[in-house]
Amino acid sequence: MKETILIRFGEIFLKGKNYLFFENTLFKNIQRRLRKFELKIDRIYGRFLISNFDKNNKEEIIDILRTIFGIVSISVAYEVDTNIETICEVCSSLKINKNTFKVETNRADKNFPLKSFELSTKIGGLILEKNPNLKVDVHSPEQILNIDIRQNGKTYIFYDKINCLGGMPVGTAGKGMLLLSGGIDSPVAGFMMAKRGLKLDAIHFFSYPYTSEQAKQKVIDLANIIKKYTGDIRLFMVPFTKIQEEIHKNCDSIYMVTIVRRFMMEIAEIVAKQQNCGAIITGENLGQVASQTVEGITSTNKMAQDLPIFRPLIGFDKIDICDIAEKIGTYETSILPYEDCCSVFLPKKPATHPKFDKVIMNEKLLNRKSLIDEAIKNIEIIDIKL
Ligand code: ATP
Ligand code: MG
Repeated sequence: MKETILIRFGEIFLKGKNYLFFENTLFKNIQRRLRKFELKIDRIYGRFLISNFDKNNKEEIIDILRTIFGIVSISVAYEVDTNIETICEVCSSLKINKNTFKVETNRADKNFPLKSFELSTKIGGLILEKNPNLKVDVHSPEQILNIDIRQNGKTYIFYDKINCLGGMPVGTAGKGMLLLSGGIDSPVAGFMMAKRGLKLDAIHFFSYPYTSEQAKQKVIDLANIIKKYTGDIRLFMVPFTKIQEEIHKNCDSIYMVTIVRRFMMEIAEIVAKQQNCGAIITGENLGQVASQTVEGITSTNKMAQDLPIFRPLIGFDKIDICDIAEKIGTYETSILPYEDCCSVFLPKKPATHPKFDKVIMNEKLLNRKSLIDEAIKNIEIIDIKL
């Protein structure tokens, strides 16, 4: 019997006219992720089907499918021709190693002569004949045998549904620029926005030699971990030393953090617009650190003039963010103890409620434009590829 992996997708049904665009993007994303395998991917109404794969690769293929946004669930199914005799024969030959079961039929092909309920009852009866110790339990069966009769003349018979990530296919919402630090939050923020269909570029600010080569490598490593969910990431590495030194030299130290963050945001928006990103993403979280008070966030917010800033973690508890970081595999790397440029020249007492006019007054002591132009001119681009 031919084994086929049945792929179901969810939210894309909600999108009416955009349906084809969403489905095409998901199809391409799947094709790209599975390109190293020899296999066949077919599209039928409401499902994708993977077949002709080497059985030894099945688990790896399933693991990859579980990282692709837009897929709601998958099942490993037997594919048979849609006719009652074949379906009965195959179903009654399957082993059920449980005490209770039920049969569930989904009849997408309305030409099939039996109603869903009639087929389920017939198959249930056949299974009971072969396995007299089994019992039917329609409310909480230990095993469900699913029969999915599709419009392509084929029927898919399977036990389990493996839940996947859901969300929207990456690329369907355009592109976002992620401010990626080496910390716990920003990779999670990137993961979450990719789940809503944003493809990611990322930008990282580093202050060599105050921050180390390892700190930079950590960010590259994090991008390499999340790429299996987000797809390829173009990573912009911005040399930030000169800007930080100038702020340190010229500005009141209590505004150091605020001014540093405003520079980051301004540069991030310029690069984001150059790269046709429609949004900026940060891992900010209200109240977590001194710079993430309402006033702190307000003063950074003003630097993005044209693009919205998405902060998917704004209302999360740290413990929940850590949970996600562990699930997606970034946590262990994020907690490596390499410093971020935000902690360079950190004053003993940063302003937690920075006064806006004071911030502006301090910024006037700097030649902002030439500092920004120089930093952007010296950006290093690293392509993180699947
Ligand atoms: P994270 O765990 O993501 O580092 P955090 O809790 O350490 O976050 P902050 O250091 O205040 O918080 O940073 C808030 C956000 O600012 C980060 O989530 C990230 O989006 C951005 N950010 C901070 N430092 C950098 C950096 N060096 N390069 C790029 N973005 C940064
Ligand atoms: Mg940080």
